[in-house]
Amino acid sequence: MVCRDATCCVSTYINVSMGKLGEFELIQQIRSSFSAPENIQGIGDDCAVIPQQEGYETLVSTDMLMEGVHFLIEDVNPYQLGWKSAAVNFSDIAAMGGEPVGSFLAFSLPKTLSDEWVAQFMEGYQAISKQFGFPLLGGDTTSSLDRLCICVTVLGKTKKGQSRKRNMAQVGDLICVTGTVGDSAGGLDVILNKRERQEDEQWLINRHYLPTPRIPEGMELTQIEGVHAMMDISDGIGSDLRHIMKESNVGAIINITKIPISKQLRRYCETHNLDKYKLATCGGEDYELLFTVSPESENHITVPHTIIGTITEGYELTWEGSDNDYVGFRHF
Ligand code: ADP
Ligand code: MG
Repeated sequence: MVCRDATCCVSTYINVSMGKLGEFELIQQIRSSFSAPENIQGIGDDCAVIPQQEGYETLVSTDMLMEGVHFLIEDVNPYQLGWKSAAVNFSDIAAMGGEPVGSFLAFSLPKTLSDEWVAQFMEGYQAISKQFGFPLLGGDTTSSLDRLCICVTVLGKTKKGQSRKRNMAQVGDLICVTGTVGDSAGGLDVILNKRERQEDEQWLINRHYLPTPRIPEGMELTQIEGVHAMMDISDGIGSDLRHIMKESNVGAIINITKIPISKQLRRYCETHNLDKYKLATCGGEDYELLFTVSPESENHITVPHTIIGTITEGYELTWEGSDNDYVGFRHF
């Protein structure tokens, strides 16, 4: 939105052009490279129009990424940032077991960013949109006097009553995760310490900048009735599991030696004398799924996963299999 009424807001006095392209040219470019599915009215009108589907529920989530807080503009490349902006949002749809419907992208662009930079950002956004089949249905574009701010809203759907919530864990459930955890924190360690980037380091950085939302995995898990609570790991298991515990009024035991850690992270931690379990439990931005499942249902799960613990009565989170050094984990 650009306000052109001088009595209404200050943007009248600010040149809103970004790079060489103006706002409308940029929107036009975005519109021409992101087409909406046939039955949906996407970019180009005052609102997107999405038909309701009987028997389904709509999932909606918004996340902001702020320069200096969520990413360092000097280090991230625009393609990665475009990818990640969509990925972290669709991870929330995956966490509910939802199927993506579409996304909305609002950004405030500092004038220092070139048209080429924005084009590459959109390329990354488009690559992940194509891979997972979610159209970009609208958004907003403004200039920023200072930093880059990106806000993505995502829509998804599940069959009525099928979404998996944080309050659904039951005592006796097994606690499971998809993939490996701690890689993203490892990648961030490479970046922050400006380590030499060989194969392992690059792999870890890609896990940090190009995370994969576990959309098909989440959808498949909702097919199994015994899969109860689910969420995505954005702040580390140690922190995220507490959300499930609090919402479900349960406790948990985690066997720290069962936590799945990639060979790349193991090697990296050995080389640099880092605590891999600390990265795996306290590091964020893995965007893997954390879920609880009844023991009878667990062997029906075809999605690759690792059992790392059990839901218990009470409110405590207990770490098993750790030596005394890990007591401190409880404070995270
Ligand atoms: P309005 O002033 O009515 O909000 P805009 O000029 O902001 O309209 O937007 C025109 C159209 O372009 C709308 O359909 C809007 O959703 C879409 N749009 C604007 N910015 C973006 C963007 N960054 N990404 C995708 N669609 C966008
Ligand atoms: Mg607008």
